[in-house]
Amino acid sequence: MKLKNKVALVTAATKGIGLASAEKLAENGALVYIGARSEELAKEVIKSIEENGGRAKFVYFNAREAQTYTAMVEEVIENEGKIDILVNNYGGHDVKLDKTIIDTNAEHYFYEVINNLQSVFLTSQTAIKSMMKTGGGSIINISTIGSAVPDLSGIAYCTSKAAINSLTQNIAVQCAKYNIRCNAVLPGFIATKAALENMSEEFIQTFLKHVPMNRPGKPEDIANAVLFFATEDSSYLTGEIMEVAGAFGKFTPMYGDYVK
Ligand code: NAP
Repeated sequence: MKLKNKVALVTAATKGIGLASAEKLAENGALVYIGARSEELAKEVIKSIEENGGRAKFVYFNAREAQTYTAMVEEVIENEGKIDILVNNYGGHDVKLDKTIIDTNAEHYFYEVINNLQSVFLTSQTAIKSMMKTGGGSIINISTIGSAVPDLSGIAYCTSKAAINSLTQNIAVQCAKYNIRCNAVLPGFIATKAALENMSEEFIQTFLKHVPMNRPGKPEDIANAVLFFATEDSSYLTGEIMEVAGAFGKFTPMYGDYVK
């Protein structure tokens, strides 16, 4: 119960990495707000967390309604008097429109970049103003391995997440004096609905040839990293850009040719 008496908010917490992170924080004693566009889905998550002895509440958040980023955080602070942990898990990626520099429409590029950047900037800005008054907090941004290892497609997604890494480090430096830590987790290929829907079986097999741990990650693998950054176990870490990717991109470029 490392997070007893802590108030956490996880954005897009009804599925995948967000859901696993919300469950993990609740298991460890935090009261977890489920930021979601569907109250019905959030209620199912809350029921399951409560059945496991945890505490969770719903807060409305829809990435298509930019004002809800700020409103969601303000609602948590108004209800609980504080926010200790903010997990910026939401991230948008349209694989049909977001391709290479040559064939990505500029309008879509800037839409996706703003969509992803505001998901960290707006929530963090609002939370930090409260954390400064309540003695500090921890912000965890879910980025992607594609922000560190350039990709053949997805230029908006990759560059927006790279900017999120930089936002993470700038927040860390600017807010350290307020005891506010900010770290990023860079998932590799994690077997969630979004990832499986966006990738062909052929792509998945090719990708896995380049993952020394030779398996897709599980949402729990990312949730464990989120928990680490949320607790005092990481009390002297801020501005970290932590890859949780089974060592994808960390070895000799010939690796895939030699490993089946
Ligand atoms: P996921 O399993 O598909 O879940 C997506 C979540 O986003 C759902 O809870 C969904 O809510 C919510 N969502 C979608 N559109 C929304 C909107 N307009 N407003 C509010 N919520 C919305 O996704 P995931 O794979 O866990 O991805 C989570 C994060 O991890 C993202 O930032 C992604 O970039 C990052 N990531 C994932 C991988 C991977 O391999 N999976 C790799 C690198 C980085 P509903 O339930 O209402 O649909």
